[in-house]
Amino acid sequence: MEVEVVTEAVLKRFLERLASRRRRMLFLDYDGTLAPFRTRRDQALPYDGVSGSLNEIIAGATRVVIITGRSADELMRLLDLSQQPEIWGAHGLERLLPGGEIRRFPIEPGAEEGLNEATLAGRRAVDGDRVERKHGCVALHWRGMSEADILKLRNVVETTWKDIAVDYGLGFHSFDGGFELRASGRDKGSAVRESLAEAHGPVAAAYLGDDLTDEDGFRAVKAAGGLAVLVRSEYRAGTEADAWLRPPDELLHFLNRWSLIVNRGGDHAE
Ligand SMILES: [Mg+2]
Repeated sequence: MEVEVVTEAVLKRFLERLASRRRRMLFLDYDGTLAPFRTRRDQALPYDGVSGSLNEIIAGATRVVIITGRSADELMRLLDLSQQPEIWGAHGLERLLPGGEIRRFPIEPGAEEGLNEATLAGRRAVDGDRVERKHGCVALHWRGMSEADILKLRNVVETTWKDIAVDYGLGFHSFDGGFELRASGRDKGSAVRESLAEAHGPVAAAYLGDDLTDEDGFRAVKAAGGLAVLVRSEYRAGTEADAWLRPPDELLHFLNRWSLIVNRGGDHAE
C-alpha cells in the first residue's frame, strides 16, 4: 500500500536526522497510541514492552513529553515509569513537570460555569463515571455501550452540550469513544509549540498520536520541521501525519529504533 511505502521512506529520513541532531524531543499521546482503549479507563495500561522502551528513551538523551486529554496526574499513575516524564494534561491546559510541580492554565469564570452546567447535564443522562470533569474540560465516554444506547445518549446530551458551547464560548470536540467540551484557546499543538520553544535550537522532534485531537499536535510538530506519526490500526484519510504505524508491533519497533540510535549510536533494527 502506498502509505506504507511512504512511511518507510519518511521514517528512514527522520531517523538519520535523529542520529545527527544533538537535541531530540519525542511527543506522545497516550490512549490509543501507547495504550489500547479499555471500557474501564482506569485499566488502560500501556501495551507490553512500551514502558520498558520509554524507560530507555527517557534515560538517554531525549526529552520525552506526553500530551494527553486526561488529567496529568491520572496518567502518571497509569504510565508508572522509572523516571516521570513531563506530561501535558487536559489537551495542553495543564502541565506536570518531571519534578512533580503542576501548572494549570487559568480558565475564564464563564467557561467554568458552562463546564459545570455540562457536567450536571451529562450526569443526569448517564452513569457518573462516564462523565469526566477535568481542568478546563468535560468529556463524555461511551465506549462499551450498545449502539442504541449511544444514539440515545447522543440525542440527549450532544444538543445540550452544543448549546452550552455556544452560550459559554467553549469548544465542542469529537474523539474516538465520545465527545468533549473544552475551554478555548489551547490544544495539543500549544503544548508542542511551547515545549519546542524551550529547546533554544534545532531539534529532531516527532509526535505520535491516534485521534482527531492529535492533528493539532501533528501540525505544530510539522511546522517546526518534525515528524508526525499516526498510530492507529486503520489509516485515517485526511490526516496530516507524514507516516502511519500500527500498534503495538510497529510502534514498538519505532520506539526501539529510536532508543538504539540515540542511546547506543546505531540502528541495528533496520
Ligand atoms: Mg489518543
